[in-house]
Amino acid sequence: MRESISNSGIDPNRIDRRAKSVIGRLRSAGFDAWIVGGAVRDLLLGRQPKDFDVATDALPEEICSVFQRARVVGRRFKIVHVQHGRHVTEVATYRTSHDKDQAKVTSNFEEMRGQARVVSTDGVILRDNAWGNQQEDALRRDFTINAFYYDPFNEELIDFCGGYADLKSQSLRLIGNPEARLIEDPVRILRALRISAKLGLSIERQTARAIRACKDMIEKVSPRRKYDECVKLLMNGHAEKSWRLAEDFALIDLLFPTSSRRNSTLIDKALQNTDLRVAENRPVTFAFLLSVVYFSEYQLAFERQDEAEGFEYRHAQAGNHALNELRSAMAIPRYASLFARDVWALQARLESVKRPNKTLALERFRAGYDLLHLRAEVGSAEQALRDWWQEFQDSSDHCPAPHSRRRRHARTPYRHRRTGTH
Ligand code: ATP
Ligand code: MG
Repeated sequence: MRESISNSGIDPNRIDRRAKSVIGRLRSAGFDAWIVGGAVRDLLLGRQPKDFDVATDALPEEICSVFQRARVVGRRFKIVHVQHGRHVTEVATYRTSHDKDQAKVTSNFEEMRGQARVVSTDGVILRDNAWGNQQEDALRRDFTINAFYYDPFNEELIDFCGGYADLKSQSLRLIGNPEARLIEDPVRILRALRISAKLGLSIERQTARAIRACKDMIEKVSPRRKYDECVKLLMNGHAEKSWRLAEDFALIDLLFPTSSRRNSTLIDKALQNTDLRVAENRPVTFAFLLSVVYFSEYQLAFERQDEAEGFEYRHAQAGNHALNELRSAMAIPRYASLFARDVWALQARLESVKRPNKTLALERFRAGYDLLHLRAEVGSAEQALRDWWQEFQDSSDHCPAPHSRRRRHARTPYRHRRTGTH
């Protein structure tokens, strides 16, 4: 089962020096320590990993005793953060999933007290802190290609689960019984989509079948963790591919429920745009994507409100409705809901072209304009309106003073031009 691969082709120059130093120090203190997980996988693919995780046989308290700046974080899944300046290396103790003393609990969290590993009666892991050896640690990981151990000093690669062969055949395979592994932690469904989209791997047949069979288990994931995983799924530069996969596995309605039809052409444009921005190293916000996904839900709810109630009331009610749909699936931070409301409110301001200088000065102007831009591309807003706002911004760029003559006497707003000349 344990296979040692000597000519792995990993370029040692790509190894993060801080992770290497963490391993060196743990070893000097008499412990075993290796680079593990996604970093080894990415190195084998010739990619630069985004983070380097370390796995060791040292217990969390022992890890802390080796480093001056180290602290234990997490309860469900305890790890140690070792700090080098502002950089953090995550160090995890080897775990086992074969804890004979593991507790099974329903909702009585008192029973969790003092237990290292706790599984709910429907099989979901609630706490995963039962220590084990390296092989057990490999087997409790999610995919075969995420269960490599690499020694940066001797350049040795250890493969316990056949991940090397899977990587060569570009296959993403869950370790062990795929259904049982998804029931244990349904977040692995989202991880499968993310890793498959990011690395261009095909999801192996049994794993794909298990995803279809277990997709409803997504509901068991805590609302906050679901939000965090969706951010990772859609903000990693492969949003369009990830979304397609989520569609193929019928997950979209579980992740982003709506009571009306989604504007899929608008959403596609936003996903493509997000990927493009990531590729160009430009900032992306998940809250913006959410505002696009829920825009038609907002619009319909807005239309349903009585016109006599006035804009503010209709906007607030429609915003509540759209955000509540989303909240039935995941927890969204306050800033994200405020962001979406602002972007939606801006659509009406951008369309009316009243007091454009004031609109331009709003904090979320750019995001609001970006949605208008996408809408114009799919025919849900007028291109002339988008062009007018583009020109208006360009002319304002040359003239940054907020009350300069030029801006106060900006060209005739779009609305006037339209009514006057067309
Ligand atoms: P990324 O490149 O996005 O960081 P990753 O595979 O490194 O991908 P991490 O979240 O950093 O993802 O996790 C590090 C490693 O921990 C994984 O490679 C995997 O071995 C293990 N792991 C993470 N999440 C799970 C999970 N839910 N179940 C089992 N193992 C997991
Ligand atoms: Mg990682």
